This record gives sequence, structure tokens and C-alpha cells, in this order.
Amino acid sequence: MLKMKIRFLGAHNCERQDQKLVSLLIDGVLAIDAGSLTSSLPLEEQKKIKAVLLTHQHYDHVRDIPALAMNLFLGGAATRIYSIPAALDVLARHLLNDEIYPDFRQKPEQKPTLGFTVIEPHRAETIEGYTVLAVPVHHGVPTVGYQVTSGDGKSVFYTGDTGPGLSECWQRVSPKLLIIEVTSSDRFAEWAAGAGHLTPVLLKQELGSFQKVNGYLPRVAAVHMNPDLEEEIAAEVAAVAKELGCSITLAYEGMEISL
Ligand SMILES: [Zn+2]
Ligand SMILES: [Zn+2]
Repeated sequence: MLKMKIRFLGAHNCERQDQKLVSLLIDGVLAIDAGSLTSSLPLEEQKKIKAVLLTHQHYDHVRDIPALAMNLFLGGAATRIYSIPAALDVLARHLLNDEIYPDFRQKPEQKPTLGFTVIEPHRAETIEGYTVLAVPVHHGVPTVGYQVTSGDGKSVFYTGDTGPGLSECWQRVSPKLLIIEVTSSDRFAEWAAGAGHLTPVLLKQELGSFQKVNGYLPRVAAVHMNPDLEEEIAAEVAAVAKELGCSITLAYEGMEISL
């Protein structure tokens, strides 16, 4: 059986020399979020990306779409962007509007570089041979997480940015690997819950609710950490993992997980 390979191109919510904005790449062809698609990949690998799933419209998740499109346009390649209407609309109006950058949905005329496809939450779609299920989560703007399942049944769920209250979401997904955001450390838990983000103590509650709904705990990888709080987050997450008896890894740029 072929392994499903997940590469963490970016694992943070702020960019520094060594920390990049969130982007995941599955088997080299399916990307989720676009915070660091161009800065992390050589051109040949960028040209192999057949689909990009966007969780929401925030800049740290969509930033590299225009840069990727320019590379593909010049390289004679194309890709398709999948998301909810709000995110596609913001991209079209603010980034690919022929003012800040070209509208690559119209260029080149014969075979445009970008295609946009609206994803409907709760309806499984087949994309590049994977079954993709979008599930709404709790954030300041409309946001979906994605469960991606390979042909032989391996599945990963990535939450995108989310605050607490995922029990409904857990009823829709049952991944082997859960990639979940943990933006801040626990001293910012009140702020995080209000802003639509998680901290380790909030993660613990969400994992408790996952276990209640699904009867098991998946392997967990945390992303979207604030680099300045990472040491605190790491210590608090380690305590949560110990308490729950499960594996929680803080993702980092270049990390790979094979399922
Ligand atoms: Zn966000
Ligand atoms: Zn974000």
C-alpha cells in the first residue's frame, strides 16, 4: 500500500527567517492553505500542485496564491483553488483583481492558470483521487477544516484556524492524524477563545470531546504556533499529551508524517 505523505511547509502564524506561515502538502499534489507554498518549494514541485484547498480568507493562509499563480503562468502550468465562497471572493476582489496582481483566472485566455471551485461544507468531493470533506469550524470569518482521505482509506483532518467548540465537527470526521491549530500559550486562553484560536488547555478540552464522540484519540500535530510563545506552548502541550496518554507533536517547517 502506498503511504500518504504529509509535508509541513509552514507551521506558524507569523513569519520569520526560519518560521513560515501554514501550508501543508499531501503527496506532492494536494496543498492545504497557501502561507508558504512558493517560499518552501522549488519551481518544479510548485508545478506539480494540482489543487490548493483554502481553509479561510486570512492573509497568512492565502498569501502565496498570487505568487504561485505567477510561477505557474510563466511555467505553462495550471492549478485549481478550492474553498468556501467567502475565501474565493476575497481572493478575487483583493489579490487577483488586476490591480494588486493579475487575475490569473483569465490568463492565458485559452487555458487560464487558476480555476476556482466552490466547496460545500459536509459534502464529500473527489479531488485528484482523494475524498475531501469540508467541515465548518469556529473562527472570526467563515472557515472550514478539511478531512482528506486517500484511495486506500488513510485520512487526515486539518482544522485550519479555530476556536473551541468542535464537538459537532468531530461527529463528521474520524482521522488517523489530526492537524490542529494551537496559536498561543495558556496565559492567553481567554483571548484565544474569543478570537477563534486554541491554546493547550483548550486543545485538551477539544481532544476530550473528540474521544467522547469517536472513542479513540488520533495522532495529533499542532500548527499555527506563535513563534514567540513556542517554548511555553511546547511545555504545556507536553503536559496535555502526558495527561491524555496520546502523542502530540508541534509541527515545524520541513517535518513529514507518513500514514
Ligand atoms: Zn485566521
Ligand atoms: Zn491564521
